[in-house]
Amino acid sequence: MLTIQNLHAAYGKVEVLHGISLDVPKGKVVTLIGSNGAGKTTTMRAISGMLKPKGGSVLFGGKDVTGMDSYRIARAGLAHSPEGRRVFSTMSVKDNLLLGAFPRFTRSRTRGDIDTDLGQALELFPRLKERQNQLAGTLSGGEQQMLAMARALMSRPQLLLLDEPSMGLAPIMVGRIFQVVRDIAAQGVTVLLVEQNARLALQAADRGYVMDSGLITMAGAADELLHDPKVREAYLGEACEP
Ligand code: ATP
Repeated sequence: MLTIQNLHAAYGKVEVLHGISLDVPKGKVVTLIGSNGAGKTTTMRAISGMLKPKGGSVLFGGKDVTGMDSYRIARAGLAHSPEGRRVFSTMSVKDNLLLGAFPRFTRSRTRGDIDTDLGQALELFPRLKERQNQLAGTLSGGEQQMLAMARALMSRPQLLLLDEPSMGLAPIMVGRIFQVVRDIAAQGVTVLLVEQNARLALQAADRGYVMDSGLITMAGAADELLHDPKVREAYLGEACEP
């Protein structure tokens, strides 16, 4: 579904991604883990068109989307739930969700379709259903995270990029968010997940990539990475026997 080859990206003259390659197969959850500043968010931004890559290619559904404007990539079926949530705080929960449907607005899409999508998004997140008329800025951090994810789903994406969904959340809310990631995948949406919580991410994923200083350093089945001594020591906070 998504193939990245030799991707380079920079902020000004400072190169941050030094040629990364990864593959996200259709119907799978793939996670990208790594320490702070490794370049995970930059990778997501370069995929969704928020940052123009300096080199390499991004193929989405067999189509070359490298360097395309983000609204065109969104229209092609890719949704990005960014780090830090970025909800429209002075708008209601419901209006935030309706805006999420925007990439799929076409002459053939009727109001009824959007109401159906809204109903499904609210089923997935009952908390949002109760709060649909509340201003998004007054939601708790966990509720705002749910809103960012639900808004991304309103575009009916084929691929969802989820950047740090558990950031700053209480453990009970983290568990709920990861359950929803599994629910989303069960509905057939392919997911690329960036997470600080490497253990939960690898438990939720089919495959994983480890990133360090702008390079992919390891790749494999998620349960293999979960049991790999180097991953356990560096990213899961476990001291391993020599
Ligand atoms: P974290 O887990 O801490 O969010 P990350 O792996 O997502 O880290 P990035 O946010 O992609 O890392 O950052 C990679 C590098 O790029 C860092 O050194 C960071 O300081 C730098 N960087 C990120 N955004 C910008 C920006 N807008 N301008 C300049 N440098 C940036």
